[in-house]
Amino acid sequence: MLAAGGVPGVPARVRTALELWYGGVAHVDEGARDVTFSPRHGRQQARADRAGAAAVRATPGHRRLMFPSPALAPESRRIVDAAARLARERFAARAATYDAAAAFPHENYADLREAGLLALTVPRDHGGLGADPLTYVLTLLEIAKGCSATALTFNMHATVLGFVDALGTDAQKRRYFDAVVREGRLVASITSEPESSFRDRFVLHTVFRPTEHGYHVKGVKHFCSLGDAADYYFVSGVTDGAAGAREGLLSAMVARTQPGVTVEPTWNATGMRGTVSHTIAYDTEVDTADVIGRPGQLFDVDLSGFALGYAATYLGIAEAAFEYIADDVRTRPMRPSPTPLAHSPVVQREIAQMGTLVRAARLLLVEAARARMAGDREATMLAVNQSKYYSAEVGVTVTERAMRLAGGRGILKSLPLERWHRDALAGPVMPPANDRCLETVGKLLCGLRAATLEYQ
Ligand SMILES: Cc1cc2nc3c(=O)[nH]c(=O)nc-3n(C[C@H](O)[C@H](O)[C@H](O)COP(=O)(O)OP(=O)(O)OC[C@H]3O[C@@H](n4cnc5c(N)ncnc54)[C@H](O)[C@@H]3O)c2cc1C
Repeated sequence: MLAAGGVPGVPARVRTALELWYGGVAHVDEGARDVTFSPRHGRQQARADRAGAAAVRATPGHRRLMFPSPALAPESRRIVDAAARLARERFAARAATYDAAAAFPHENYADLREAGLLALTVPRDHGGLGADPLTYVLTLLEIAKGCSATALTFNMHATVLGFVDALGTDAQKRRYFDAVVREGRLVASITSEPESSFRDRFVLHTVFRPTEHGYHVKGVKHFCSLGDAADYYFVSGVTDGAAGAREGLLSAMVARTQPGVTVEPTWNATGMRGTVSHTIAYDTEVDTADVIGRPGQLFDVDLSGFALGYAATYLGIAEAAFEYIADDVRTRPMRPSPTPLAHSPVVQREIAQMGTLVRAARLLLVEAARARMAGDREATMLAVNQSKYYSAEVGVTVTERAMRLAGGRGILKSLPLERWHRDALAGPVMPPANDRCLETVGKLLCGLRAATLEYQ
């Protein structure tokens, strides 16, 4: 335990994180009751919440044997463990509620904020935790095991902070990093458009028209994760009259409260419901001070690691489902025999296959994060695209097989398996979509030029 008053010179939010790491927080909030339900639905939901919480709490003792974790520096280990604890003790208990209501997981974010984890990827000289890619993916994976939507939206927030670090001026870094570290603000990544596809070459229709003090931004975006829960939107478009993205691609921070920002609460998806990925129309002014980078400068940013966060998120879902079902077969009797299902060779084989898939995906993820840390762009692009593709496939496969192994109960809403499966379905289609990942990997393995994402 830290002494009262914490660590001198460490901001209060980060201090709280340290206290959490050292076991300074004993209270566990099991409830997520911010959304309204009918009494019957409420009871069903409460059961589902408890099942989700129990699923993650009942981590088997041989967990370490299942998925050995790579050696980490003590500080990184504390970060990953703090996230795991929040996910296990709090997020898992709330996940079914947010899923049912398609509501943003505000309480999870309050916990992340309180623990200082919103600043996970903010550089240390700006008061953040400065997590390296390996620490980042392992932290995100743990968050996903508690709540998929929290992990996916957190990845959007962290991705934008990376862009600010790469493209922002010193004044912008101070401003936006401070907003995260000191005020706990959230940032959304706003690129996708209804008229375009990320699959081949992304064509932006959102226009930045120069004005006296900056730009007028006009366009419609969809799949805007964090929806109306974001404080800032990192909106991308092209400058008026530019021949293409290379010449005119530009992004700006737009405050949610800015006039001319209209959130259309359209999100009603099969999975990842808590991401509230609404459609947002922009017809608004941005000041020069809020424009991040010069036109076309985003092309200088290393995007080779872009999909790492997706790989971690979808693998986290697979791991949660695997641990749940492995624990289930160890305790559920093979009626009429009192022996648990785990004694059946058929079940053993199924568990072995699922466990091998998850373990292989974990090894790929760790290798991809290490490639990113080593700094070789092509090696990173190869490993990250392999990892994203594989994690997303393993997410779908393992959650589905876990449901089958659970039998008819597998499709019940009172168990978390069907929710994990629905969330996993988003994995293969998220850009870079899995077939695009394979194309990139294939090109690199054939010695051809490749890119993770391309703009026209
Ligand atoms: C849960 C979730 C959250 C998201 N959050 C965000 C967010 O916060 N911010 C954001 O900007 N975006 C976000 N996205 C959107 C995402 O980035 C995509 O833009 C979105 O999914 C649109 O892709 P699409 O599959 O609908 O369309 P398309 O890319 O058009 O794909 C449709 C189909 O056509 C195929 N296809 C298209 N072109 C080709 C081609 N040339 N060759 C072969 N096949 C082709 C594709 O492979 C696919 O099968 C999110 C998506 C999801 C699912």
